[in-house]
Amino acid sequence: MPSSHSADPHNFRRRGVLFVLSSPSGAGKSTIARKLLADEPELGMSVSATTRPMRPGEVDGKDYHFVDLEEFRRMVAEDEFLEWAHVFDHRYGTPRAQIETMLAAGKDVLFDIDWQGAQQLFQIAGGDVVRVFIFPPSMEELRARLTNRNTDSMEVIDARMARAANEVSHWDGYDYVLVNDDVEQCFQGVKTILAAERLKRSRQTGLIGFIRKLTRVAGAV
Ligand code: 5GP
Repeated sequence: MPSSHSADPHNFRRRGVLFVLSSPSGAGKSTIARKLLADEPELGMSVSATTRPMRPGEVDGKDYHFVDLEEFRRMVAEDEFLEWAHVFDHRYGTPRAQIETMLAAGKDVLFDIDWQGAQQLFQIAGGDVVRVFIFPPSMEELRARLTNRNTDSMEVIDARMARAANEVSHWDGYDYVLVNDDVEQCFQGVKTILAAERLKRSRQTGLIGFIRKLTRVAGAV
């Protein structure tokens, strides 16, 4: 996937980071994503399309693009998704156009997608992808968080707990793992990962000219 980035402290162009955050729902991933976006102006959010009904407080176009099954199928047929998957009883997908726009504008992109999405994205974009998995402190704590959220029925919460166990079982498909027993600490961990990944040698395509100049100067001494 073509990507470049010019918004570094040293103004070197580099390849954008496709930064994936996955966790069972209720593990605090959305809070961390929100804090990260507020703190990192060079990071844009990938807004997924979904067929699931809107929850109270959600905004169409901001949290998700809420579409019906027919529209979702049309988007699949017209190859508008970078990846898509069945999650719970609904479909979720990453529209590709927004990602290309953000990368071309020199941004890194944050994805809140499940393990299937992380896997598909890695197959497409390989080394540009960084996969981070966030564990809840415990399954009991996860159930308490889902219950306190008050947005889903008991039946839905039970289904989410079963799904959470499944999601956690895919943790070994990630590059980094963190436990969210303290939001601030977990957030700082995620920020550190992003900072380090931005500095990776393989992303520094724009650094080549600088290094050549540097070695020429060193050679002349
Ligand atoms: P929720 O319905 O709670 O917002 O999300 C349910 C799950 O779907 C979460 O684990 C979330 O990461 C995942 N998800 C959201 N958007 C996408 C997407 O575009 N692709 C994939 N593969 N998973 C997604």
